[in-house]
Amino acid sequence: MLRFRSLGSGSTGNATLVEACGLRPFRLLIDCGLGIRQLGMRLAAAGLQPADINAIFITHEHGDHIGCARALALRHRIPVWMSQGTHAATGAPDYDGLLRMARDAQAIDLGGLQLTPFAVAHDVKEPLQLSCTDGAAKLGILTDLGHATPQVMAHLQACHALLLEANHDTDLLAQSSYPAFLKQRVGGDHGHLSNRAAAAIAGALTHSGLRHLVAAHLSQRNNRPALAQQALSEALGCNASDIVVADAVSGTPWLEL
Ligand SMILES: [Zn+2]
Ligand SMILES: [Zn+2]
Repeated sequence: MLRFRSLGSGSTGNATLVEACGLRPFRLLIDCGLGIRQLGMRLAAAGLQPADINAIFITHEHGDHIGCARALALRHRIPVWMSQGTHAATGAPDYDGLLRMARDAQAIDLGGLQLTPFAVAHDVKEPLQLSCTDGAAKLGILTDLGHATPQVMAHLQACHALLLEANHDTDLLAQSSYPAFLKQRVGGDHGHLSNRAAAAIAGALTHSGLRHLVAAHLSQRNNRPALAQQALSEALGCNASDIVVADAVSGTPWLEL
């Protein structure tokens, strides 16, 4: 069985736990965009401690994703996967032998869990998003991108759960007090997905085996949970309440596959 849980999502910090449940559970932390104390508190709420994490995957160098990754890895001797570009963009710090390089479309076998990273269009050096599988269930993670390419869509076929960015409502973003350059950055081709763009992706990826759709990375200023739920549920033909929204602070409960 595979289960996952957001520990918080949005511009204030992103972290997602994925657990392949077996005789010896394997736990992956995808992004680590919190302070180390805050991360510890949120792990405790999930019934875990930092030392329970077996591997860390960092999608890109923005602070809301990389956060305390290095401190956590060094303190608990946890291997960390990221792209060469992400490592370089943070000044290529030393990870004391714990750094592993992730590459576009190159599968990573972690034993109980297999990851497939894939490149996305985002305004950083070498961003990767990923899918994870235990061989039976597949989870797709897709946040921090301006638009989905055919390659991204191909990687996310047949997922049983999707954690999908629904960053902003285009009208709220247009009306917001953000300066023009920031509106362009967020809404642009290398920024973040609008509810409408997320709905188009969800609609194209939906299939009878899709069990959970989580709306993630919502802007606190330019979106509302109900707007994201409405857009995504219309695309899937389900009830708005079937769409789980990852909260900035409380994330989501454990979701099982
Ligand atoms: Zn982000
Ligand atoms: Zn980002």
